[in-house]
Order: sequence, then structure tokens, then C-alpha cells
Amino acid sequence: MMSDPEFKKQIYESYMHSAIRYCYQCARCDENCPVHAVTAEYSPRQNILRSLLGINFVSAGTRLAIFGCTVCDTCDEVCPNKIPLTHIFSVLKNMAAAKNISPDSFKGQGKAVHDQGTAIPISPPIARRRAAMGLPEKYDLPVNEVQAVMKAVGFEDKLAKLTIEAKKKEEA
Ligand code: SF4
Ligand code: SF4
Repeated sequence: MMSDPEFKKQIYESYMHSAIRYCYQCARCDENCPVHAVTAEYSPRQNILRSLLGINFVSAGTRLAIFGCTVCDTCDEVCPNKIPLTHIFSVLKNMAAAKNISPDSFKGQGKAVHDQGTAIPISPPIARRRAAMGLPEKYDLPVNEVQAVMKAVGFEDKLAKLTIEAKKKEEA
């Protein structure tokens, strides 16, 4: 595969751009990744290698390779070179979202954060566990502030566009 200068520029211009160069492919990230443990289709090491070389693999066919990361941060913790892998993976996810190839579940989570201030609202089992740990069962979320931020970064417009597209798809 050829290197894509525009893809490489976007990765290297992310705020941790210089760190990625220190990856020496030791595979410690793969060895400790819980997602890689269940599927070889997801490999943090390979994602870093492709990003480093500028091989643009962001496409509908590579959704799992991009969105498989659960952001558990284990790879960040074990990387001997302190490469901020999850930050780089967020850049890849944003590239995929810009191409409108992110999974529907991600769009649903974005909507939940916008509407309720959290991706996972407090359900009765969560409230019970919080109570058992001595935490208040409920807490107020600054939904207005979350919405103001999402509006400022253009997420509200994107969400409205995606909702219209999903409706059209349903009606087709
Ligand atoms: S653990 Fe760090 S240095 Fe090793 S392959 Fe992964 S990103 Fe590269
Ligand atoms: S943050 Fe993502 S890539 Fe890193 S170990 Fe967790 S699931 Fe794997």
C-alpha cells in the first residue's frame, strides 16, 4: 500500500505528533489489548504502524480495526515509549466519522451524551451499586453546558444531518 500524504499530515499534526515516531513495534500493546485477545482483526500495533507510515486504512471495510478500541487505556500504560495510542486512535475515529462510516452505536452514544449529558444514564442496577459504594444514587449533570460545547464544535449540526439521513434510509 502507498503512503497517503494527507492522511499522514492529519496524524502527524495531532498534538502528540512526534511521539508516534518512537514506536519500535515491540507488540506490547497487542499483547495487553483485551480486544486483540479476542480478535486479530483489531491490532493497536498495526494501527500505529499504518499511522506511522501514512497508510490510509480508514474505510467502511475497516470499521472494526478502527472502532474496536474500547479506550480502556491499557496500551497507553504498557507502551515502553509512552506513545499516546488512544489519542491517535481518536484521530482515526474522527477521520472515519468525517467520512460518515462510524458505527450506528457511536452515533447513538453521541446523541445520548447530547440529550442526557452521559453516554450511560443511571439505571436502577447502577444506582444500587453506587448506593452500595456510599455514592449518591443520582447526580445532576450539566446537560446545558454539554450541549453548548457540542454546539460550539459543530456536533449538533452533524447530529441533525445524521438523523435526517437515517430517517431517509428508513423510509427508502
Ligand atoms: S507498545 Fe508502544 S512501542 Fe510497542 S508496538 Fe505498541 S505502540 Fe509501538
Ligand atoms: S485502549 Fe483500545 S487499543 Fe488500547 S488496550 Fe484498550 S482496547 Fe486495546
